[in-house]
Amino acid sequence: MAQIDDLPPLRDVIARHRLNARKALGQNFLLDLNLTARIARSAGSLEGVHVVEIGPGPGGLTRAVLAAGAAHVTAIEMDRRCLPALAEIAAHYPGRLTIIEGDALKVAMPPPSLQIGAPARIIANLPYNVATPLIIGWLKTVPHPPWFQSITVMVQREFAERLCGTPEKPKNYGRLSVLTALAAEARILFNVPPTAFVPQPKVMSSVVELAPRLKPPSVPLDLLEEVTLAAFGQRRKMLRQSLKSLGAGPELLAMARINPEARAEEIEISGFLALTSALQQLRRRE
Ligand code: SAM
Repeated sequence: MAQIDDLPPLRDVIARHRLNARKALGQNFLLDLNLTARIARSAGSLEGVHVVEIGPGPGGLTRAVLAAGAAHVTAIEMDRRCLPALAEIAAHYPGRLTIIEGDALKVAMPPPSLQIGAPARIIANLPYNVATPLIIGWLKTVPHPPWFQSITVMVQREFAERLCGTPEKPKNYGRLSVLTALAAEARILFNVPPTAFVPQPKVMSSVVELAPRLKPPSVPLDLLEEVTLAAFGQRRKMLRQSLKSLGAGPELLAMARINPEARAEEIEISGFLALTSALQQLRRRE
């Protein structure tokens, strides 16, 4: 690919700032401009959009997002060694890049602290060690609609498959799949081999898109999580057994019209909705 900007090649940036990758920070950098441009493009038109990026590192994806026309990028990075490299990008795109040094788990939620103007999109090559709490936190954002229009992120492929899991593929279907399906439309956009990263991870990765549903979930997501925790916590057991911990297993199953001998991985999203709504009714009665 031709250069996307007049900034130095990423390999030079990494060498000059001595950004040797640290495993503890989930650092697997993307240096391929074709790939970073593809990720930026797959988030849709960025004209006029405010992008929040988690873990910009040396800034490969940040540069692609800015070159793709994002109005503004707020990038949250925990590794202060990366800040001088990111400051060079900010100088190249005056007024369009804000760098926040900190832990995304604290800074990126709740998001109002970021003072983001709408519309906003989240784009990132996520550090694998915090991908789960970040995504769960975003999916559970209240009030509805959330502050972001979409999430386009690179994650481990196995995690992407769990986000998009359905009962047809029980191996991938679990608590995360149910929560995701209720809060968003999720799809895997494309897979990325280990060779695309420096250093190379051991596993395949995927870029996944999560688009929040237009309507808010019809049940409280914390209650849904109580149900899925009980059901999938003992996924080999029948629901009449696994839901006992909720204190009203048989009644719940009857109210939701679900076969007590079924197992969690056989239950469609609509079944979990019915169970959660039944639990909500029972708790209200108490
Ligand atoms: N975006 C860069 C790229 O694609 O080459 C780097 C991606 S690397 C997979 C993940 C980045 O997230 C690293 O730069 C790491 O320092 C940063 N990071 C790790 N944990 C973080 C956290 N809790 N909050 C913010 N950044 C974090």
